[in-house]
Amino acid sequence: MTDFAQTKTLFELPEGVIYLDGNSLGPVPKGVEARVGEMIANEWGKLLITAWNKAGWMAMPRVLGDRVGRLIGAPEGSVVLGDTLTLKVYQALAASLELNPERRVILSDSGNFPSDLYMAEGLIKTLDRGHELKLAAPEDVLAAIDEDVAVLMLTEVDYRTGRRHDLTALTARAREVGALVIWDLAHSAGGFAVDVSTNGPDFAVGCTYKYLNAGPGSPAFIYVDPALAGDVRPALSGWLGHRAPFDFELTYHAGDGIDRMRVGTPAMLQFAALEVALEVWEGVSLDDVRARSIELSELFISEVARRCPEVTLASPRAADARGSQVSFRHPEGYAVMQALIARGVIGDFRTPDILRFGVTPLYIGEDDIIGAVDVLEDILTNRLWDRPEFKTRAFVT
Ligand SMILES: *Cc1c(COP(=O)(O)O)cnc(C)c1O
Repeated sequence: MTDFAQTKTLFELPEGVIYLDGNSLGPVPKGVEARVGEMIANEWGKLLITAWNKAGWMAMPRVLGDRVGRLIGAPEGSVVLGDTLTLKVYQALAASLELNPERRVILSDSGNFPSDLYMAEGLIKTLDRGHELKLAAPEDVLAAIDEDVAVLMLTEVDYRTGRRHDLTALTARAREVGALVIWDLAHSAGGFAVDVSTNGPDFAVGCTYKYLNAGPGSPAFIYVDPALAGDVRPALSGWLGHRAPFDFELTYHAGDGIDRMRVGTPAMLQFAALEVALEVWEGVSLDDVRARSIELSELFISEVARRCPEVTLASPRAADARGSQVSFRHPEGYAVMQALIARGVIGDFRTPDILRFGVTPLYIGEDDIIGAVDVLEDILTNRLWDRPEFKTRAFVT
């Protein structure tokens, strides 16, 4: 049984703050600051460029890739880290279209994170071969999978509402019609158990700064089905995906398997942070995390329903139809969220009216949930949000 009182001690959390935004940016795990400092002082500082070999820097995208892989059910050697998620989406999509050359449709849904859709649009223009991005409503995706679909590209958990797709059923249907499948696990990895191996996708991508707590801009991950990895032509054919980067050949030859999804120089200070952040998961069962997340979410939803009639639930009511976040709607959602943040309850806002709260059992407990509802009730009942300073929109909401 995972000891959640113990996992909470593994994070630096500011006094007086209830942090309900770990679905967007996880807090700092203890030891990150020391490890990053140590890398600067001893590896970069003393070994200088020799650290690429001596400190094992060059191997880190694969070594830590395997550790992230364990959290998503990926076998050794099938995950590599680097770049940001947006670029990994592009790589997976470009490879999929090339592997299914007779078809023209990319199928996704209107609940997907816009960056994934923007990358599809950009790729379609670059290819200029008549591809089309088709968007179904999330509940209509299954019915929209037909023999025109080259690739089904879905994010498992909706970033606004927390609605969770039945990826297994959708993947099975896509396979039946001969489509490839990409899962975006941005809001899944570290939120609950994922299994990319059994009836899984051809590609899976995600980031490490949300539920994996590796810090702003930390490296993204990409999984490629090992049966397919040798056939993938990398669209971003950078030197570190070459089979022999230090031969400096003038022509690109893809590296073995997953190595070909590497692009350029990895951001080592972020890898140092990720290395420590991944240690948090030792001794943690993702099934326990899921069970606890549901308990806390149910508590949150029922307390808000009882005490805060001004907001409505934006997330599905059924626990198995949600990821690990709970969202509510309020016409003045932005101001309400700013008022919450001013009182130390940190979530975020997504246009037009969504208050988003991440439920992260590694460092959030019942007291935090009740404390957050206490403040929300006070803010709503006494209209404390109705002040000009809470209504001026910042760039990041
Ligand atoms: C968070 C998120 C992103 C962000 O991509 P970055 O390249 O890391 O900025 C992209 N897609 C989805 C589905 C996300 O949830």
